[in-house]
Amino acid sequence: MKLEELQALEHRYLMQTYRRAPVEFVRGEGALLWDSEGKEYLDFLAGISVCSVGHCHPAVVEAVREQAGKLMHVSNLFYTEPMVRLAERLSKSSLGGRVFLTNSGTEANECAIKVARKHAHGRGVEAPEIVSFERDFHGRTYGALSATPKLAENPALGPMLPGFRSVPFDDAGALRGAVGENTAAVMIEAIQGESGVYPLSDETLLAARQACDEVGALLILDEIQTGMGRTGSLWAYEQTPVRPDVLTSAKALGGGLPVGACVTSERLGEVLEAGDHGSTFAGGAVVSAAALAVLDVIDEPTLLRRVRELGAGMRESLLTFDGVEQVRGRGLMLGVGLASGIDAAAVGAELVERRLIVNVPEPGTLRLLPPLTVDSAQVERAVALIGDSLLSYAAG
Ligand code: PLP
Repeated sequence: MKLEELQALEHRYLMQTYRRAPVEFVRGEGALLWDSEGKEYLDFLAGISVCSVGHCHPAVVEAVREQAGKLMHVSNLFYTEPMVRLAERLSKSSLGGRVFLTNSGTEANECAIKVARKHAHGRGVEAPEIVSFERDFHGRTYGALSATPKLAENPALGPMLPGFRSVPFDDAGALRGAVGENTAAVMIEAIQGESGVYPLSDETLLAARQACDEVGALLILDEIQTGMGRTGSLWAYEQTPVRPDVLTSAKALGGGLPVGACVTSERLGEVLEAGDHGSTFAGGAVVSAAALAVLDVIDEPTLLRRVRELGAGMRESLLTFDGVEQVRGRGLMLGVGLASGIDAAAVGAELVERRLIVNVPEPGTLRLLPPLTVDSAQVERAVALIGDSLLSYAAG
């Protein structure tokens, strides 16, 4: 099918909620993608931090093949080994409590919100509140959306759920002021991803931890984008001075298949009980087998060290370019802040023409989220392409 025909069909039959670039991809391997005309692209977006082990990693493909040929689905009324092993692995690698598996990031956050509200009711709070930062992104279902201040402002989608409030980003004083007896949780990203890669300061993370501890509220870290090795440790919180009570994961967890998780600390493992929560597909055998294979690749000191090294090298090289004002983030989660006057959307579109896929989360920022398995030659190529693109933009 020609691209124009595909576009016409898409326009006719899919709800028009996305703006897509005019490219059809048909194959992927590692950090490379090929379009329907056979052109090769370097993928520095990786499905928005989903394909962290690269496209079609052989170990993930094999795990999926094997499990799909054996057993795909039995419902959550029975046991399967991949599901239980995945929960064990997630718990042991992070907070040590219990896990609720989900099909997406937004659902992992829904579960976290439920844990927080039920826990708050247990403390005698009648109208529990969740506090987030402005420009946080937690998802698109109504709970997670209500904790996503920028999107929650859209009056056409209202009303939002009660019990959510936000404070200016990285404002430790405002956060302390917003947390009180009614607070069920502070739910935040250690590095805001969708809004343009903005790390929270250690000072604010510590203030959030202390404020929660003072009133008995939970600190929920949304690690859906920052987790699974993206910042150079399995979980981003490991490089901060705080440990959350609840952590959510998704995106890279399934290596391209839809799976998420809400993980609690040990003391919160019994907050949700039979009947409190459920999801038909969640914890399916195939996605769990895929996630276990992904964790085998990512939860590995050599790979995580390389993520930190490659990220540091990229930052250094990018900062040498005219037009790059700052490089934010950690590991291979980088936001390249361009000088004012440079149209990041134009640079991003031009980079796709040069066959480098990046993302433009806000005017003025290029977001780079390559597979964590990317090699140094590919990193050098991507950096050079960004340099070339900025030069040709400056030349007009
Ligand atoms: N939380 C964060 C930090 C995210 O980046 C995203 C997605 O971009 C989500 C939640 C929502 O995840 P999903 O799109 O899988 O529902």
